[in-house]
Amino acid sequence: MSDSVVAGNCVICGHVSAMTVDPPRRTLARGTDPSDSSYSVTIVLPDVLLCGDHYHQFMSKELVVGWCDEESCRTYGAVGALSACGKPFVALKR
Ligand SMILES: [Zn+2]
Ligand SMILES: [Zn+2]
Repeated sequence: MSDSVVAGNCVICGHVSAMTVDPPRRTLARGTDPSDSSYSVTIVLPDVLLCGDHYHQFMSKELVVGWCDEESCRTYGAVGALSACGKPFVALKR
């Protein structure tokens, strides 16, 4: 895990990213905290890193960026594609 904000990799293809875009939405409700059901957890999503090609696809809406919130993933990917944990990325609706 790197915290570098200068360089990153495209969330779709892994190439060195050229663009940072705002995600379709900035927060995601994760539901209630298992240890305190009166408290619901909302996470703040990071910027989406995209290479030039995928940036253009994203801007022309050919590419829909989704999110996998499984603990082992918590990454962006193309909606409909399978993430590393085997579950598909889900669309982030506004
Ligand atoms: Zn890419
Ligand atoms: Zn996953």
